[in-house]
Amino acid sequence: MNDCLFCKIIKGDIPSFKVYEDDMVFAFLDINPKSNGHTLIVPKKHFKDIHDIDSNTLNHIIETAKKLMGILEEKLACDGFTLAQNNGEVQEVKHFHLHVIPHYSEEQVKNPEEIWELLK
Ligand code: AMP
Ligand code: ZN
Repeated sequence: MNDCLFCKIIKGDIPSFKVYEDDMVFAFLDINPKSNGHTLIVPKKHFKDIHDIDSNTLNHIIETAKKLMGILEEKLACDGFTLAQNNGEVQEVKHFHLHVIPHYSEEQVKNPEEIWELLK
């Protein structure tokens, strides 16, 4: 998709703070994070939403989320997680993405560069 923001991020045409990548998925820090380490996991192939994505890719995204949660727990010492995925009117970017949102009992606000360095 030529005009898709997340396709452009995956291709590297738009910069992002990448935290994980494999042949099927790309994960990067949300530009407007709800907490430190708020990450978006996107399939490299363009799917619009939960109705569009195939089960195999969806399952791989869930497995990636579990892996990422381990990394975030270890590196950022978070105390819990919310996984979220928007569809329809509440979906701002029309390329499927899973939000991995860490929770902290006490959060120290850090900028994305600092978080990214910690996750390397
Ligand atoms: P939604 O489609 O509502 O599930 O959310 C889209 C998310 O993408 C929001 O949390 C935005 O902050 C995030 N976002 C938008 N543009 C960028 C970008 N260039 N890099 C990283 N995250 C982005
Ligand atoms: Zn796309």
